[in-house]
Amino acid sequence: MTRKEFIKICGILGLTLPFQSIFSKGSSRISSQEVIIIGAGAAGMTAAYLLNQMGISFKILEAKPTYGGRMKKLEDFTDFPLSLGAEWLSTNTNIFEEIINNPKVKIDIETTRYNPLESSLTWKKRKLRSGIIGFFNDKKFVNSSWLTFFEQYILPSISAYTHFNTIVKTIDYTSEKIKITTDTTEYNCDKVIVTIPVKMMQNRSLDFLPPLPKEQQKAFDTVMVWDGLKAFIEFSEKFYPAFTEFKIRPKKSGQIAYYDASYGQNTDKHILGLFAVGEASSPYLTKNKEELTRYILNELDQMFEQKASSNFIKITVQNWTNEAFIEGTYVYDYEDYRKVEKLGAPLANKVFFAGEAYTNGNNWGFVHTATQSAQAAVLRMFT
Ligand SMILES: Cc1cc2nc3c(=O)[nH]c(=O)nc-3n(C[C@H](O)[C@H](O)[C@H](O)COP(=O)(O)OP(=O)(O)OC[C@H]3O[C@@H](n4cnc5c(N)ncnc54)[C@H](O)[C@@H]3O)c2cc1C
Repeated sequence: MTRKEFIKICGILGLTLPFQSIFSKGSSRISSQEVIIIGAGAAGMTAAYLLNQMGISFKILEAKPTYGGRMKKLEDFTDFPLSLGAEWLSTNTNIFEEIINNPKVKIDIETTRYNPLESSLTWKKRKLRSGIIGFFNDKKFVNSSWLTFFEQYILPSISAYTHFNTIVKTIDYTSEKIKITTDTTEYNCDKVIVTIPVKMMQNRSLDFLPPLPKEQQKAFDTVMVWDGLKAFIEFSEKFYPAFTEFKIRPKKSGQIAYYDASYGQNTDKHILGLFAVGEASSPYLTKNKEELTRYILNELDQMFEQKASSNFIKITVQNWTNEAFIEGTYVYDYEDYRKVEKLGAPLANKVFFAGEAYTNGNNWGFVHTATQSAQAAVLRMFT
């Protein structure tokens, strides 16, 4: 990569960097570096894509047999993809251009404004009431998803460098070359980008040598990651509004909502989504699928005059607390930003963090901010 190309990339990303310092030792210094990315979710794939554009050699090591992480989707439940994790686009659609970072690429991803206020209710003290439900500035993907976007525009240029079923156990950054080990293999590189979820860091699934600084370890050990699940239920009739939220007090205990998952889709199927996170999700999380189905139908029957059981067709459940290599949803909305800020501090200019909670204390818990943190990590590692 030439200096001109690098500046073009940074320019498109809207980033101003001290280019002089990056290139003072010659661009070959950068392009001869080897980067390893741990995790093939939104952050890992975005970082890989940008490194590829910059002509820097990289590998992604992913524990699961597939990519996507918390953008997981289900294609065969109904006639549009169901987003089992990230579902809403909580920023404007320019984000796609920012990730693709190439004005020649025509982006063909349809979204629609999500505005369920005209049809939303609150379930309070066992009664449905009309009420103001938060505020909605979000968009929904139409017959696609966050993961569809990555599959179409990002994966083609990075999939050849992705190693699946590769569970990273240790990162040893004591020497000049970093040593990364799995149960069977050792990899060497110059820089590493860690994107594994906070819950996996809390479980000590990854060992660092030397260990994380005390303050950073304390931040990992004390931030709260919400448990949670999503479920999608098909009914033969639509008897529910676009959005029904439970009043949860205190708010810190979580969020529970039933919402019309067919909203804005080109479909005549009636799919209701359940979103439950935090302590409030425990009645759902502690049940097996059969018990959960009965519990949900009973809950909906009470809310909607017994219409759920009689219209029920089928259900699918995504339990994020039990999901291997993720084990939770995201750092809870009410966490102290000063603590979150500490999670992603780089180590010795060799180990960088990117992803859901590594956003420097800003706006954590979204796909778009995970991608932005990945771009920031890549640019930071070469300045
Ligand atoms: C229920 C739910 C709803 C959400 N809703 C939205 C929404 O509507 N809109 C939105 O923008 N965001 C939403 N989010 C948040 C969004 O999904 C995440 O912020 C984003 O997907 C995180 O991406 P990531 O790359 O940081 O992490 P992940 O997607 O978790 O990727 C990390 C990857 O690391 C891998 N890994 C873990 N351990 C190892 C290891 N030891 N070795 C190798 N690989 C490993 C994992 O398998 C995983 O693939 C939601 C999340 C959840 C759970």
